[in-house]
Amino acid sequence: CGVFGLYSPQPQDLAWLTYLGLFALQHRGQEAAGMCVSDGEKFHVDKDLGLVTQVFDERRLDGLRLPNARVSIGHVRYSTTGSNLRFNAQPLTTRTNKGILGLAHNGNFVNAREVRGEMLMEGALFQTTNDSEVMLNLIARESHMDLIEATAGAMQQLRGGYACVLMSRTQLIGFRDPHGVRPLVIGQREDGTWVLASEPCALYAVGARLVRDVQPGELVWMDRDGLHSLMVEPKRPTPCSFEWIYFARSDGELDGVDIHASRIRMGEQLAREKPVDADIVVPVPDSGIGAAIGYARESGIPFDYGLYKNPYAGRTFIAPTQEARELKVKMKLSPTSAVRGKRVILVDDSIVRGTTSRQIVNLLREAGATEVHFRVSSPPITHPCFYGIDTAARKELVASTHTVEEIRDLIGADTLAFISEPGLRKAIGGQGLCGACFTGEYPAGTPLLNDVDKLA
Ligand code: 5GP
Ligand code: SF4
Ligand code: MG
Repeated sequence: CGVFGLYSPQPQDLAWLTYLGLFALQHRGQEAAGMCVSDGEKFHVDKDLGLVTQVFDERRLDGLRLPNARVSIGHVRYSTTGSNLRFNAQPLTTRTNKGILGLAHNGNFVNAREVRGEMLMEGALFQTTNDSEVMLNLIARESHMDLIEATAGAMQQLRGGYACVLMSRTQLIGFRDPHGVRPLVIGQREDGTWVLASEPCALYAVGARLVRDVQPGELVWMDRDGLHSLMVEPKRPTPCSFEWIYFARSDGELDGVDIHASRIRMGEQLAREKPVDADIVVPVPDSGIGAAIGYARESGIPFDYGLYKNPYAGRTFIAPTQEARELKVKMKLSPTSAVRGKRVILVDDSIVRGTTSRQIVNLLREAGATEVHFRVSSPPITHPCFYGIDTAARKELVASTHTVEEIRDLIGADTLAFISEPGLRKAIGGQGLCGACFTGEYPAGTPLLNDVDKLA
């Protein structure tokens, strides 16, 4: 998911700016979009299933226009639990004795089920099936306290990987779990407006500059007195390595590490670790481009444009059957003449189920590639993610049930090789990193055993 928030010291219409921020974060979630806007009195909410441009047509944006708004938040949703339902769209809102609150959340709480169970016993009511509502109810329940204290208390009770934005009628709040698994950055516009966003691209989209990342374990808030910060938990940084591998947009940096440059380093590392003699290096667009540039640079083998990607094809497409999934790949990708008669090194960021990879190898062979050497800029994904990235249940992860040689055979490549886990860490650099989907070591905990059907 992607989250976004604004606090403007001068009253102004914030609906359009929020729309622009969400549009920049569209790659983080294509299932639903929503926003809340307040001018201190009124509090407007609108959300629905669909892309940002589909949900917010002119009529619906008009409904969110408040000429004197000060606070807004927004969300783009990517469902990790498969419950693609309208009532699960965010922001979530609730009424408290401190007034109405809105919450937008990226990530997952690993103990949400237990906390929800305890709250149900105490008479709490829930309207959705998503764990964000547990966070919102925890905050609302303590709303006799100061909102910052209540939020800090909720952060201490919930574990997992998360980044959230929360708003009241007068404050914008942002917080990140102690491991900083999911990203959150702070920006500011020339007119003084504060911005919170999952990624820097959303800051630039609203004309703001990057101020800094929210620290792991930090709670920040913006109000008429400016930006404030509280370290709620000691930071133990292990941000998600998948943000650099695949998820984040390449035009930015997270926790001080530039996304595009890190992808190039992954490709260079991969070329050093897993060299092969061939004629051209071809990326699987768009997610394989950075690593393919690095692979070509390091190996000296020319980079070429061997796969055309239809720019109107989205990043994901819900395809229920195998036939529909195969057509989906054809809808998105087709080979160019560059591969004809060539030994091709095909570079992609990851192999999850292996189904797309098999079809792409096949496409290249049909187009006349004489050899296809598949290189992957992440290690084999053997474990599910419990922190908000949908890498599928364990039994669907091809690398959890197959050896590299078996996967090579399955996808029909001449050779197949993945970057090593230490090589990946070296390429990204920075401090700690979560690599639980490659190693099974979960830095921010796992759900209780009866909850981990995903692990089975
Ligand atoms: P596979 O061969 O496993 O079917 O597909 C691999 C492709 O899925 C890669 O090109 C990669 O960019 C993409 N991918 C990696 N992680 C994710 C994810 O979390 N969600 C979606 N929708 N695609 C992903
Ligand atoms: Fe990221 Fe993998 Fe960790 Fe999930 S398990 S947070 S995808 S590195
Ligand atoms: Mg891809």
